[in-house]
Amino acid sequence: MTEIQLHNTLTNRLEPLTPVHPGEVRIYTCGPTVYAFAHIGNFRTFVFQDILRRFLRSRGYSVMQVMNVTDVDDRIIHAAAAAGIGIREYTEKYIQGFLEDMDALHLEAPEEVVRATDHIEDMVALIERLQQKGLTYTSDGSIYFRISKFPAYGKLSKIDVSGMKTGTRVDVDQYEKDDVRDFALWKAPKAGEHFWETRIGPGRPGWHIECSAMAMKYLGETLDIHTGGVDLAFPHHENEIAQSEAATGHPFVRTWLHAEHLIIDGQKMSKSLGNIYTLRDLFAKGHKPSTVRFLLLSVPYRRQLNFTEDGLTQARNAVERLRNFVDRLKNAQFPAGSSPESHERIEKAEADFDAALADDINTAVALAAIFDLVRDLNTAVDQQTFLQQDAPRAVAAMEKFDAILALLADDDDEKLQKLGLLRSRDRLSAPQIEALIAERTAAKRRREFKRSDEIRQQLTDSGILVEDMKDGSVRWKYK
Ligand code: AMP
Ligand code: ZN
Repeated sequence: MTEIQLHNTLTNRLEPLTPVHPGEVRIYTCGPTVYAFAHIGNFRTFVFQDILRRFLRSRGYSVMQVMNVTDVDDRIIHAAAAAGIGIREYTEKYIQGFLEDMDALHLEAPEEVVRATDHIEDMVALIERLQQKGLTYTSDGSIYFRISKFPAYGKLSKIDVSGMKTGTRVDVDQYEKDDVRDFALWKAPKAGEHFWETRIGPGRPGWHIECSAMAMKYLGETLDIHTGGVDLAFPHHENEIAQSEAATGHPFVRTWLHAEHLIIDGQKMSKSLGNIYTLRDLFAKGHKPSTVRFLLLSVPYRRQLNFTEDGLTQARNAVERLRNFVDRLKNAQFPAGSSPESHERIEKAEADFDAALADDINTAVALAAIFDLVRDLNTAVDQQTFLQQDAPRAVAAMEKFDAILALLADDDDEKLQKLGLLRSRDRLSAPQIEALIAERTAAKRRREFKRSDEIRQQLTDSGILVEDMKDGSVRWKYK
């Protein structure tokens, strides 16, 4: 098997994966900031992480992934204060919404999903460690990390710190690229805003300290992999490195993986630009969960993903093609026997798929391996060179691919139903469809083909696919 190589932002190179604990990969993932529903740009990054963890498991690793939920942040505090409710109450809806969205997209739940507000004590303890080492200072009740005491600052984002004036501070959670300043570990309380009474004084944590504290609590002082979108490399991840390594004296993370952005009309999709679609927006427009999952995983994570309607249409067709192929393998009749050519062809696709993912999770090449296989086997079926005993072997390969891609289960309606978004108004019920099909069969038997064609058209217009089987039976499904 090909060695797994991942592109490490820290070294800017492809490197072999070498976990600290052999056989186990420990991953920390920056999760959503829950002041609104996550958008599909966010899910681009989360889908990448899902493919990564599923691939590592397919290679026999056990995975320990921790994802945080940022439920304390400037925007959350302001929004909760404006709504006159507590931050837990304010964020609950969005946390639940995020978990539901993950389920709709077949994202595996990380082993731990942890909230910042449940870990204030861990953050306080980490800040105390930094204080004891003389790496912090206090100003107006807020505690800052003194960047000049951490010479390696900038090593991840390759940011130039030489122009930084010692002692310049930044208070807000988000700030401009290239603007290097001492950052707040702990923020003094402001009137009307939520705060905690702690050993280091009243206040609330800065955004960066939460990830360092939670990552090290659950995964140890050196993690194998840390993931996030590219926008997080600076300042968030740079600050995580500074706090963590300054406190422990050990490397914080071996491999940093950053997903490129999903863009729309040439711009990053982001809540602040207001150009977002949530998953629910797309579902309400009639797009299926599997379509969105396919689209988001189809472009390798280090390339920008340009989101378009056309892309959605292609994704939908691609998923259909995979599902129809497996249906054909399971239901069509093939000549008896087994053919070595088909077996070899399938084995080659399996090897190509695995090698593509081992090459820095190259999903585009992995998908090409599958679609080439589908094309070749369809041709073999048409030429009657694909034989009966080849079918279960091909199904097994498709299922193996799907352990990572998670596209084959025809459960889109079920997922939409769970979100209350299944569009039932123009949908025929199963008994209505069965009745129409029976009527069509009867019409055909009476050789009333005009009537049978009319019924078929009616079903097609209602989004039902009708398939006449060789044995005379009829199968149908929702498109
Ligand atoms: P946030 O909720 O803003 O903290 O972001 C959650 C995750 O989504 C982070 O890893 C971000 O880097 C990532 N992210 C935000 N916007 C995009 C985008 N347009 N494309 C891809 N990833 C994004
Ligand atoms: Zn983080």
